[in-house]
Amino acid sequence: MKVKLLDLRPQYQFIRDDLLKGIQNVCDAQSFILGENVRKLEEEIADYCNARYAVGVASGSDAILLSLMAIGVGPGDRVITIPYTFFATVSSIVRLGATPIFIDIEPETYNIDPNGLEHHIRKISNRKSHLSTLKAIIPVHLFGQCADMEPILSIARRYGLRVVEDAAQAIGAEYKGKKAGSMGDAGCLSFYPSKNLGGFGDGGMVLVQSKELEERMKVLRVHGSKSKYYHKYVGINSRLDEIQAAILRIKLKYLAKWEKRRIANARRYNQLFKESGLLGTVSIPRVYPHNLSVFNQYVVRVERRDALRTHLAKLGIGTEIYYPVPLHLQRCFKGLGYKRGDFPVSEKAARETIALPIYPELTEVEQRYVVSKIGKFYT
Ligand SMILES: *Cc1c(COP(=O)(O)O)cnc(C)c1O
Repeated sequence: MKVKLLDLRPQYQFIRDDLLKGIQNVCDAQSFILGENVRKLEEEIADYCNARYAVGVASGSDAILLSLMAIGVGPGDRVITIPYTFFATVSSIVRLGATPIFIDIEPETYNIDPNGLEHHIRKISNRKSHLSTLKAIIPVHLFGQCADMEPILSIARRYGLRVVEDAAQAIGAEYKGKKAGSMGDAGCLSFYPSKNLGGFGDGGMVLVQSKELEERMKVLRVHGSKSKYYHKYVGINSRLDEIQAAILRIKLKYLAKWEKRRIANARRYNQLFKESGLLGTVSIPRVYPHNLSVFNQYVVRVERRDALRTHLAKLGIGTEIYYPVPLHLQRCFKGLGYKRGDFPVSEKAARETIALPIYPELTEVEQRYVVSKIGKFYT
């Protein structure tokens, strides 16, 4: 038996005719950039995520970059985030000439530790230069579970900071009944094919709550021009294209159902790990009772992680490491002056975690196979 980490083919087969028709309609219309499909998808996604506005962009990475641009982050500014995330969360800060300030994560959810955040702010609160250059916080809703937003938003309000949610892995997730991406000033979504709502290429979207930010974002994604060839800002070229939007609109109709299946698969893994007596060796994901995780990834913490991964690969079971090198230790960020040991919880997670297959069409037989092979490895 082979179990891929992610198999996109069954989903494609299921709606193949609709998708091909949607692509054909765009080709027939020969309208490729910022057309009807993008406009409608923006409305539909805003609706799905309980946000006022949504702006289609070229990728999740650009969604973060454009959000920071729109709230005015620039050279000399500081932006708080975590080191245990995808590269783009941090590269967007650095590309704007700003400095990332890392806060370590919670050991069980892998999201930003609000106590660490509070502690950091208190530490710098008597240093005017640090506080005045601090512009924003980027909480990441890692693996599909929202960060603890209440304390984050309250700190942001108290110190006049903007909040940009990195919800690239968390479309549809909920925190105390609120949707991921709808709680901060901006919420960033990715339609990279492995995300819960994946396109046939790159794509992204920014959720915003204020008309002003929505307008600025729409200008920034077309080189900062409101009317063609007259530039109000220096923007970038970052647009969602019509073919992607047409595909995503069709897939969006099934997203809630697919997310339910991911959640059911996660529950089944939890049950199987319990039944097989592996819970001491395999730490299953912790989801807070106030959270609804959409399980973009099912990540467990294990002993001898790399050996397990090799063992599973030999048996045809796909896994992935999110993320092997925390960002404060990346070579390109050497200039920031961080060193090994600075963020022990992130560093430990990078050594011990492994993502197992969790996609909606994964079968019970496949899940039992994965769990039994993990069990074999440890006995
Ligand atoms: C995927 C991802 C991004 C970037 O999205 P792209 O569409 O690949 O550019 C940003 N942050 C996180 C946490 C992600 O998982």
